[in-house]
Amino acid sequence: MFTESIKNELRRIVGEANASFSKEDLLCYSYDATNKVSMPDGVVFASTPEEISGIMKTANAAGFGVIPRGAGTGASGGSVPVEGGLVLSLERMKKIIEIDAENLLAVVEPGVVTWEFQQEVEARGLFYPPDPTSLKFSTIGGNIAECAGGPRAVKYGVTRDYVMGLEVVLPTGEIINTGVRTVKGVVGYDLTRLIVGSEGTLGIVTKATLKLLPLPETTKTMLAVFPDVKDAARAVSEIIKARIIPSTLELMDGVSIKCVEEFAKAGLPADAGGLLLIEVDGAVETTEKEAVIIEGICKDSRAISVQAASEKNEVKNLWKARRSASAALFRARPHKINEDVVVPRSAVVELIAGVEEIAERKNLLIACFGHAGDGNIHVNVMYDRSDPREAKAAPEAVEDVFRLALGLKGTISGEHGIGTAKAKYLGMELGPAAIDLMMRIKNVFDPRGVLNPGKIFLQADMSPASGARPAQGAPVRH
Ligand SMILES: Cc1cc2nc3c(=O)[nH]c(=O)nc-3n(C[C@H](O)[C@H](O)[C@H](O)COP(=O)(O)OP(=O)(O)OC[C@H]3O[C@@H](n4cnc5c(N)ncnc54)[C@H](O)[C@@H]3O)c2cc1C
Repeated sequence: MFTESIKNELRRIVGEANASFSKEDLLCYSYDATNKVSMPDGVVFASTPEEISGIMKTANAAGFGVIPRGAGTGASGGSVPVEGGLVLSLERMKKIIEIDAENLLAVVEPGVVTWEFQQEVEARGLFYPPDPTSLKFSTIGGNIAECAGGPRAVKYGVTRDYVMGLEVVLPTGEIINTGVRTVKGVVGYDLTRLIVGSEGTLGIVTKATLKLLPLPETTKTMLAVFPDVKDAARAVSEIIKARIIPSTLELMDGVSIKCVEEFAKAGLPADAGGLLLIEVDGAVETTEKEAVIIEGICKDSRAISVQAASEKNEVKNLWKARRSASAALFRARPHKINEDVVVPRSAVVELIAGVEEIAERKNLLIACFGHAGDGNIHVNVMYDRSDPREAKAAPEAVEDVFRLALGLKGTISGEHGIGTAKAKYLGMELGPAAIDLMMRIKNVFDPRGVLNPGKIFLQADMSPASGARPAQGAPVRH
């Protein structure tokens, strides 16, 4: 609990109406998409970097944690106040400050919703590709902090590839600018890249300069249905091998298709073993040519049908179905652990086959869907917490999935980040020297450990007793 004097100081900084300590409000800021719940002691809605700077200085002096938060759609616990403290909501900083069509860039505040930003730039014939499936809710600040990717990453890359520069409030309260507004720039260390993907642990993004592209002339959407998900995975590898890079290449297995169809009623073939949602974009002539080649590859990979969506509504429905996959899976079992492993694209079939083997061995339902075109598959381990056998087997299966992905030269997280959900697995992928260097970087930025405590690194490793370089003067948690 905050003392009255801390509460008053926070009210003074952001204004009485923009700070709350009521239980009802705090509950709304206690969780993210992992469904991990932990109550904060307060929530503030900031409007300027100066206010945030004041909050961070107060936090350092009083020794409480500050947890930045966008829309709370994060899938690794990043915005959950696991140790209590102050949730710093960026949701009211939602101005699109500038769209510079001449220089193909935009400057935005962190609370801008990804989809709304995309609509604004597309109205001007411009294009901001990063499209996490949560884009109708997630914020640009959250996307930057997690280096979000989405279906279009297969062709266009991830958020990191579109961040040219940032305004950042450091954990100690200083306000810095990183990066450039130019196409090139190599002055000093690349702090922009360090902040992108740092999960709100190194600084609070208060402004972002984003790269834009010209809007592609046309987009063609296709649905390919397969008897077995491994056939769909094989088609993914064959399409890439044919040197065609679709703008999206999304996969769903049989369990996902069935759940999504029951949930969204989008007209998917509920009894299919797998499907691919494929888009190609660019000049009309090129997209038509690529679509014909892709259709042939899918048929050679045993596709039962390959259909192009002809109406705008049909395309909208297909995407609605794809975006509902995560939520729809709860029809199968009441709980799930949603992982986002990535493997080289040529190994997607081996990943899917390996996951099937783990599901059988652990006697669990595991559903796979996701961005197969870039090798990033959401492996959803479904279970029921009240069933002791399933509750024990589910985390064991997750560890097996990580081992499988790493064995295929992949990574344990392509886009969700580490947060609290994967902190204990960090050492499976990174060596001790790399983890130690990361912890030392964290300590340089945040010597008192007040920004987003309890994330990425296990607290035991960050503590002075661990031998790893500890935070200087660990903050007194109130
Ligand atoms: C249905 C669903 C589908 C999803 N699909 C995808 C997908 O396709 N690709 C993908 O990459 N992710 C996906 N996600 C995960 C999530 O939506 C992304 O990580 C997204 O970028 C989080 O944005 P947010 O605004 O909700 O951030 P939050 O959840 O509020 O925060 C996420 C992290 O960012 C930090 N943060 C937030 N704002 C700032 C800021 N201004 N400065 C510094 N740190 C900040 C927080 O402290 C936290 O650590 C999905 C989630 C759901 C629920």
